[in-house]
Amino acid sequence: MSEIMSFGADSEDVKSYKFNGFKAKEGEDYRIGIIYWDDNPKTMFRGVQAHYFDKYFICKSTPDKRAICCTHSYDKNRPRWRVGCVIIIYIIEDEKLKGYKLMPWMFSDSMFQKIRKANKGFPLSKHDVTLSLAANTKEEYQTIDIHSCPESFWQLKAELKEKVQEEAKPLMDEIIRNMPADLSIDEIKEVLGIESAGTADAAENINLGDIMSEAL
Ligand SMILES: [Zn+2]
Repeated sequence: MSEIMSFGADSEDVKSYKFNGFKAKEGEDYRIGIIYWDDNPKTMFRGVQAHYFDKYFICKSTPDKRAICCTHSYDKNRPRWRVGCVIIIYIIEDEKLKGYKLMPWMFSDSMFQKIRKANKGFPLSKHDVTLSLAANTKEEYQTIDIHSCPESFWQLKAELKEKVQEEAKPLMDEIIRNMPADLSIDEIKEVLGIESAGTADAAENINLGDIMSEAL
């Protein structure tokens, strides 16, 4: 339990909330498992298509209509998937399992493609994987290589499996809270620095089909 403390205005103990997801360090291998629930591997991931401009926000386009988040000109106007899952990182010493740590892990579509590829050969519902930073890449970019392992440690014993699943639940809730924000069109305009009246509005509402039929 946390205790009520006394401190001055210079205290560094009062830290801001920061999402603390998995990050691979250079030269380290991590044997991990991806947690799922109810014997259903489809509970492994949560994801949504999003843009990044100062922060992540959900893409508002539909198959029929592209929204301002995609039509406005800026660096990340192509939406990309933000995907999250909870992983168990095993602490292995002298080839013995000494413990584990559960962590949220969030990444983009390119990492998910690697996971999908690994899953084809060795389903992640039955196999751990080893993660490591790809050769000649920097930690800040987190380009990760993935290799399949023969078994899934956390599922070897029913007791451990249940305990891990229970402990992983609040972390999945944290992932959901840290998913890109669902902003309104007006809020997105504000983020992108678009004036709410004027040409941007018009661009958003243009229906190409209408223009073409009018022109003919
Ligand atoms: Zn968009």
